[in-house]
Amino acid sequence: MVNRIIQSLGLSTSRYILASIIATHILLLPFLYQTITYAYKANSFEQFETHARDLSGLLADVLSTKHLLDDFKSISETLDSAILGGKINYIDIIGRDDFIITTTIDTILTRKDFLEDTAVGDHKDNIFYMKIPFFFKQPDNISYHLRVGFDESQLNDQISLAKNLIILILTGYFILIITIIIFNTKYISTPLRQLRKFSNEIANGNTEIELHTQSKLTDVQELTHDLEKMRLTLVNLALRMQHKATHDDLTGLPNRFLFTDRLHNTVTLAARKQQSFAVLLIDLDRFKEINDTLGHSIGDEVLTIISSRMSKGIRESDTLARIGGDEFAVILIDAGLIVAETIARKIIQLIEPSFNVHGHSLKIGASIGISIFPDDGSNPGVLMQKSDIAMYNAKNNNLGIASYHPGLDFDHYENLLLTHDLKNSIIQGEFKPKFQPIINLKTKEISGCELLLRWEHPEMGLILPDKFIPLAEKENLIGELTHWTIKHYASQLKDLINHHKNFTISINISPNDLLDSALLHSIRQTIKNDELPAENIYIEVTENAIMKNPIRSADILSQFRSLGINISVDDFGTGYSSLAYLQKFPISTLKIDKSFITNLTKESNNYPIVSATITMAHDLGMRVVAEGVEHEETITLLNELECDFAQGYYYRQPQYFDEITQWIKNYNKQS
Ligand code: C2E
Ligand code: CA
Ligand code: CA
Repeated sequence: MVNRIIQSLGLSTSRYILASIIATHILLLPFLYQTITYAYKANSFEQFETHARDLSGLLADVLSTKHLLDDFKSISETLDSAILGGKINYIDIIGRDDFIITTTIDTILTRKDFLEDTAVGDHKDNIFYMKIPFFFKQPDNISYHLRVGFDESQLNDQISLAKNLIILILTGYFILIITIIIFNTKYISTPLRQLRKFSNEIANGNTEIELHTQSKLTDVQELTHDLEKMRLTLVNLALRMQHKATHDDLTGLPNRFLFTDRLHNTVTLAARKQQSFAVLLIDLDRFKEINDTLGHSIGDEVLTIISSRMSKGIRESDTLARIGGDEFAVILIDAGLIVAETIARKIIQLIEPSFNVHGHSLKIGASIGISIFPDDGSNPGVLMQKSDIAMYNAKNNNLGIASYHPGLDFDHYENLLLTHDLKNSIIQGEFKPKFQPIINLKTKEISGCELLLRWEHPEMGLILPDKFIPLAEKENLIGELTHWTIKHYASQLKDLINHHKNFTISINISPNDLLDSALLHSIRQTIKNDELPAENIYIEVTENAIMKNPIRSADILSQFRSLGINISVDDFGTGYSSLAYLQKFPISTLKIDKSFITNLTKESNNYPIVSATITMAHDLGMRVVAEGVEHEETITLLNELECDFAQGYYYRQPQYFDEITQWIKNYNKQS
C-alpha cells in the first residue's frame, strides 16, 4: 500500500521521510495539545477549588470565633478584608429566615444570583459559588451559611494563556523537528542524489569518473564503496571485452579489426609527419598441411610458437597482428624499404628453426610481402592490396621476401585473368600433356613417363603447372582438368603403353580428388571406354594429400587399386607422414622429392635420409623413384643405394608426345 503511494507520488527517500513525519505530527500534535491542556486545566481547577475551599473554610473558622451581635463590626471587617484579598468577589452570610449579612464593600454591582457550583466553570457565570455551614460563637447555636463567590476570570485568563503557550511550544517543536528532518534528509539525500548521478553516468557508459562522497554516514560510504567496486568491475569487463574484440584468442595478438584501425591511424599520422612506414604481410608456408595432417590442436600450438617468435623481431612501437588463419601483418612505423626488408629477413630467420610439438619435429617457412607508404599506396586498402600482391609473388616464386613493385600488379592481374579463363580453356583444349621419362636404374631401360600438364594460353603463351594448378584447385576445376586430360589424350597414353614393353604412365592427382570419388568414377569410365590398361597406370598422390583425411583416402585409394591402377606417393619427405604409417595404404611406389635428390652428395645432410628411405621402402615392399636427377654423379650414388628408378633433367625434360616418342626411340636405339 505504502509502496503504491510512494510509487504513484514518485517520492524520493527524503521527501518520503519528511512527508511521513509531517503526517505523523499532524495527527499527533492536536492530540498532544488536547491532552496537555486538559491536564493543565484539570490541575488548575483542582488547585482553584482546593484553594477556594481552604479559604472559605478558614473564613468560616474565623467567623465562628465571633459573637454575632457584639462583633458585628469585626465580622464586617473580616468579610471586607477577605474581599480585598482579590480572590473573592462576593460573600454572604445567610442565617435563619434568609437573614443576610454582607460586606460593607458594595459588591451588589458585581453580584449575581447565587447559583451554587459543584465545580469550577459551572453555570458559566465566571464565579465559583460555594456554600459552607458554620456557627457563631454567640448568641445561640443556630446554623448559618457562608456563601462565597470566587472570581474565576483570572483562572480562565491563566488557562487561555497556558493554552496559547502550549500552542506556541508545540508549533516551535514542530518547526524544529521539520527543520532537523529537512536538514538530516538533505544530509542523506544529497550524497544519495550524487551517487544516483554517478550511477546514471555509468549507465550511460561514462565509466571514467571515480566515485566519492563527502558523507560520513557509514551506509552511504558503503554504498559509495560498492558502486565504485561495481564501476571498476565494469571498467575491467569493458577492457576485457574490448581486448577480446580486438585481439586474437589464440595468440593474443591484435586481430584484423585492430590492425585495420591502427593502419588507418598510422596513415594519418605518417601523412601529417611526412614519414614513410611499411606494411608487411606474412603468410606461413605449408601451415595448412600441418593443420590438415596433424590436426588443429597441433596447428594451434604451431601458430602460438610462431607468433611469439615473430613478436621478438619487431619493435615495441610496431604492430604485429594475426589477420587470418596463418596470415599475419605488421606495421613498421617510420620505416622505409631497407628497414622493412631487414626486419622481414629477421622475422623469417626467427621462424625458420625447427621446433618440437608433441613429438613432431616441425619446420615452418613464411612468405612476406612488403609495401611502403606513401610510395606504394597512400591509403590502408591499397597498401594491404599491394603487400598482398608482393606476398603472393614471394610465395609463388619461393622468394621468402618480396617487396611490391608496379610489375607485380601484372602478375596479380594475370592470375585473375587466368582464373577467369580457366574453365573455357579446358573446353577449348588449351591444356596439353608433356611426358617426362622415368628410367629403371638397374636395366637402364625406360620404365615409363610422368604426365605433366602445360597450358598453352592463346595470349599469354606457355603457362606452367605451378601457376595454374593452384588456380584450378582453388576453382574446384582440377578434377575436371585431370579427367579431361586422360580422356582427351587417351589415344596418346594408349600409344605409349602399347608400343613399349611394360610401359607405365604416371598421372598426378590433387589432394581434393582424394576426398571425392568423382574423379575415380570418371577415370574408371575412361579406362573402360578407351580400353586403357589400368595396370600400366600410376596415380601420384602426395603424402599430405593422404594424411588430410586418412580414412577417406584409404577408401578412394583402394578403389583405384581395385581397378588395377597403381599408387605412388609423390614428393616423399616433404610431408609429415612416416613410412610405417603409409604402409597401411595400397602404395607400391615411393617418389623421393627432388629437394633431397638434385644436389645429393655423400656428404650432404640428405644422404642418410635418402639411404634410410630406400632401405625402409624396400623392406616394406615398395619401389623407389628418385625425382629431380640432374647430374651423373647422382645416378652413381642412387645406384649404390640401390634405388630402383630415376627421373630428371639429366635424362630429359618433360616433352610433348611427338618429341617423347622420338626420344624414346633414340634412347632405345642407343642402349
Ligand atoms: P611433381 O609431381 O613433383 O612433378 C615434377 C616436377 O619437377 C615437374 O615440374 C618437372 O618438370 C620437374 N622436374 C623434373 N625433373 C626435374 C629436375 O631434374 N630438376 C628440377 N628442378 N625439376 C625437375 P612441372 O612440370 O612444372 O610440374 C610441377 C608440379 O605441378 C608437379 O610436381 C605436380 O605436382 C604438378 N602437376 C603437373 N601436372 C599436373 C596435373 O596434371 N595434375 C596435377 N594435379 N598436378 C600436376
Ligand atoms: Ca608427380
Ligand atoms: Ca614430385
